[in-house]
Amino acid sequence: MSTIAAISTAPGIGGIGIIRMSGEECFEVLNKIFIPKNKGKIESYKIKYGKIVNSENGEEIDEVLVSYFIAPKSYTTENMCEINSHGGIVVMNKILEQCLKNGAVLAEPGEFTKRAFLNGRIDLLQAEAVIDVINAKSSIEAKASVNQLRGTLSQKINSIKQKIIDIMVDIEASIDYPEYDVEEVTNEKARASIEDILNDLKKLENSFDDGKIIREGIKTAIIGTPNAGKSSLLNAILDEERAIVTDIEGTTRDTIEEFITIRGIPLKLIDTAGIRKAKDEVEKIGIEKSKEYVRNSDLIIAIFDATKELQQDDIEILEMIKNKNAIIVLNKEDLNQNRLNKEEKILKSGKKVISISALKKTGIEEIYDEVARLFNINKIEIEDGEFITNIRHKNSITNAIKKLEKAEKTMLDNMPIDIISIDIKEALEELGKITGDSVSEDIIKEIFKKFCLGK
Ligand code: GDP
Repeated sequence: MSTIAAISTAPGIGGIGIIRMSGEECFEVLNKIFIPKNKGKIESYKIKYGKIVNSENGEEIDEVLVSYFIAPKSYTTENMCEINSHGGIVVMNKILEQCLKNGAVLAEPGEFTKRAFLNGRIDLLQAEAVIDVINAKSSIEAKASVNQLRGTLSQKINSIKQKIIDIMVDIEASIDYPEYDVEEVTNEKARASIEDILNDLKKLENSFDDGKIIREGIKTAIIGTPNAGKSSLLNAILDEERAIVTDIEGTTRDTIEEFITIRGIPLKLIDTAGIRKAKDEVEKIGIEKSKEYVRNSDLIIAIFDATKELQQDDIEILEMIKNKNAIIVLNKEDLNQNRLNKEEKILKSGKKVISISALKKTGIEEIYDEVARLFNINKIEIEDGEFITNIRHKNSITNAIKKLEKAEKTMLDNMPIDIISIDIKEALEELGKITGDSVSEDIIKEIFKKFCLGK
């Protein structure tokens, strides 16, 4: 394979920059542009100090540190080096240019990881985990991705695949040696085994809901009548979490989604304001719109102005959140005229009721406590890593379940065993798509397209 090169650090100016190369001729290319102070032989995982020069005129480009990784013990399993230069854009580009002029080609996005996959060091699941680690928006998501990268999920899928292969071997044997009349025994054994596999797969399939929360955050909407304090509460939450707020473009023009982490729990706050925008435009969030938010959310924070008696709209809001994960917030406690804390309709709602002042930022912590209690996300067993966060994986698992259920039914109908083996084989292929051993070139391309350059 060709020798590839790319700038691996983020575009822009930084303290240091890293230019990475991988391929058979990596060290030959490096030799033409790097003059190390210590001319001794290179060793894996060792660093040399020296300068990168223009190979044509010897002009010094930068003072650098180069680390060496000798095949097969490298990220890609090929010879690799990483040139640590100063982090200026011009300098990094000049070094990259020298690599390219002296025999390397520019790496495509994700090509280093793709090589690690194609060379068999990691499977597709682990390669995908690399992107997830990089893109993780919360520490819990990062932890889940690191587990996947370590191969925990791969091991689980592989053990299920092995069980399917065992069934296939038995079936093949009974087809090849029909005179032994083992078909009935095989059938019984296969059915028990399929049951067992289906159990495992369904557990994984169900784990996707937790996985989705980890990946996408709990969709949270703050609803309430005009002036209840929606924007103020949103701002109070965002202010506190300012450092880790990321704007995600919403699906509609007037909703913005903000990703925040509360007590380690990722929340995707649906900014029903456009709430904040609506304020300026005098347009206020109506009941109809609130209904839509309620429908689409995993968690509702219903906020009421505690200085006022319940209005008809408030009663409708209480009705809307009846069957949802919801927290009732009585706002403006700083005004000391709480008319709602004894309100029957609120007390009977069965939801946690919290008095706050969005303005003075009191009671906000209590909201966080309730979020943590409601979702108790730490219960999700991140440690064992046996859950899925990726829709591609989920689809393959669902398909494999369907195939195995079909096989099971065919067995119950006493169909010939070779017909059953077709479905079983297809189930195996579906699982192979997850780890990447039976996946099409197109899918591989799609997956690595999502990577950044230099990874
Ligand atoms: P929204 O229409 O639900 O978004 O409500 P806003 O957040 O815009 O608040 C409406 C008005 O109530 C504003 O004048 C806020 O300053 C005020 N307000 C919001 N929260 C509090 C609070 O906790 N205490 C007091 N005293 N006023 C508040």
